[in-house]
Amino acid sequence: MKNLEVGVGPMDGGLRRLHGRNACLKGKIVVAGPCSVESESQITETALELAKIGISLLRGGIWKPRTRPGSFQGIGKVGLPWLKAAGKIAKVPVACEIAHPAHVDACLEHGIDVLWIGARTTVNPFSVQALADRLRGVDLPVMVKNPINPDIELWIGAIERLRLAGITKIVAVHRGFSTERKSIYRNDPIWRIPIELRRRMPEIPFLCDPSHMAGSSELIKTLAQEAMDHLYDGLMIEVHPHPEKALSDGAQQITPAQLRILMASLKTKKENTRAGEYLSHIDALRKEIDGLDRQLLDGLSRRMEIVRDISRQKERYGVSFFQPRRWRTIVEDRTRYGVAKKLDPDFVHRLFEGIHEEALRWQEQAIEAPPPEESAARPKRRPKTG
Ligand code: PEP
Ligand code: MN
Repeated sequence: MKNLEVGVGPMDGGLRRLHGRNACLKGKIVVAGPCSVESESQITETALELAKIGISLLRGGIWKPRTRPGSFQGIGKVGLPWLKAAGKIAKVPVACEIAHPAHVDACLEHGIDVLWIGARTTVNPFSVQALADRLRGVDLPVMVKNPINPDIELWIGAIERLRLAGITKIVAVHRGFSTERKSIYRNDPIWRIPIELRRRMPEIPFLCDPSHMAGSSELIKTLAQEAMDHLYDGLMIEVHPHPEKALSDGAQQITPAQLRILMASLKTKKENTRAGEYLSHIDALRKEIDGLDRQLLDGLSRRMEIVRDISRQKERYGVSFFQPRRWRTIVEDRTRYGVAKKLDPDFVHRLFEGIHEEALRWQEQAIEAPPPEESAARPKRRPKTG
């Protein structure tokens, strides 16, 4: 597993070179361009406009993974020389999505500078492995979008497959997840997943794609700012000279002029400051938070002990662990209490769903493990990966 450790420094991922070119969002990588390359004039016009704004990398989809047949599936190989030429004229490197080894061959043949693996491909380990095999020995940066479903292991697995094939320039792209949760966004950001991926792979540069998250152009700004607040290394944004005429993802594409305004409006953040007053304030507040977190954990630990005792009683009397009526009462009561304490009801609900799920697990395990060992460590976690 040594190859997994291949070192790539923060902000590298092969994009450092590109990063230097960008002028529109200081210190960040900005990837911009149409969802799809549609014609030579469309991609050339976009490239020239974007170069004036000062982007790092021009994107353009050649093969489009569309959900339904019958919609525009991408212009195909014929568009690769247009994309490359547009990049040359505008003096920006170019990036294209690959979903199949034949796409890799075609991109290499046409001198595409950066490749990306889309959400519908990251989800499939066979496809990712086929790409990784074909990329062996290729020294191009590869951006890996999150899988379409909220499964962090698939995302990490895709990055590992590339690393094992010797690819060292890897960048992660967060584009949101397809879920059933009600959301104003086309793809739910679920920020905790990229936060966890960055905790586990801190060396990987991280971009946010607010366009595919938002699904509509007016929601992009909020998400792009959130990405800055989360200290992302940059953004990937879909830009089309005439979004209303776009052959794919028209509703979420913005014009070059709108991109310029967006970039000027974003506030980049730093992780820290040496300002003495800030440091002393934050220190005191963090100490208080540390204490409160311990109290939360002490309370949860005691709660699970009680759950374990309850489970023994239930077992003895043949009562089910899951109690629909009790669960309804808990949700109603805790939500009401939480709201009175100015907490968001959805948050309280989700929090108690997690606690309840864990409590049920404790109850099952308490019955499997006899009482004498009950002081031993926590019950084992069920494996989640396939
Ligand atoms: C795209 O970037 O045009 C695309 C298809 O994205 P995703 O894989 O994130 O859906
Ligand atoms: Mn798109």
